[in-house]
Amino acid sequence: MPVVELQGVKKEYMLGQTKVEALRGVDLSIEKGEFLAIAGPSGSGKSTMLNMFGCIDQPSSGRVSIDGKDTEALGEKELTRYRREKIGFIFQSFNLIPVLNVYENIEFPLLLKSSLSKKERQALVLRFIEEVGLSDRMRNKPYELSGGQRQRVAIARALVTRPTIILADEPTANLDSETGLRIVELMRKINEEEKTTFIFSTHDAHIVGEARRVVKILDGRIVDQGLGA
Ligand code: ADP
Ligand code: MG
Repeated sequence: MPVVELQGVKKEYMLGQTKVEALRGVDLSIEKGEFLAIAGPSGSGKSTMLNMFGCIDQPSSGRVSIDGKDTEALGEKELTRYRREKIGFIFQSFNLIPVLNVYENIEFPLLLKSSLSKKERQALVLRFIEEVGLSDRMRNKPYELSGGQRQRVAIARALVTRPTIILADEPTANLDSETGLRIVELMRKINEEEKTTFIFSTHDAHIVGEARRVVKILDGRIVDQGLGA
């Protein structure tokens, strides 16, 4: 069963009096453990599509299913739980909390989980700090880090709640191409080790090559599912 599936998904926005068709009927099925890139130029609908996967926005029409369940049948409470427990987000601008250090930024999403003891929380934070190679930077604040290091913090923060799916919206857009490549290699290593499903968007050909499957999007339509001929 797919972890997430879009069926005939359309999304329209009103921009003043003009209707913008951000997604024009998208069918896409993603299996557990995939390492998938959504590739397309700026404005093609990548972020809109990721928002559908993360249930942070609803389609104008069509169906979004999570683990085989139609999300329309889920209440707001269940959707919130889905977002919090099953999804990790990584953004192009890192979105770290500036007053918190590396350790505290990564710990932050775990503070919402009352089921964890302090010790369990600490073990998880330390494990993912090590996983992203920042053990020697734990007490530094985001402004003391390079762009690549900041994105590593964001990756650890997304992983620490043990989500099923990580959604990364242009995670390398604010990095130089070498650093960006390192970040995608790190995500891929984690995908292989932890079996976490990764869906990342990009318009960078350099990065696309690292994906195991590439879905191409243009003007709100999928033009290639990346499933071969
Ligand atoms: P991408 O992430 O590939 O750059 P987006 O999904 O952000 O593309 O946007 C797809 C289209 O939808 C663009 O034409 C964009 O201007 C439009 N769009 C996105 N979000 C909104 C919004 N909140 N209101 C109006 N138009 C939007
Ligand atoms: Mg975008």
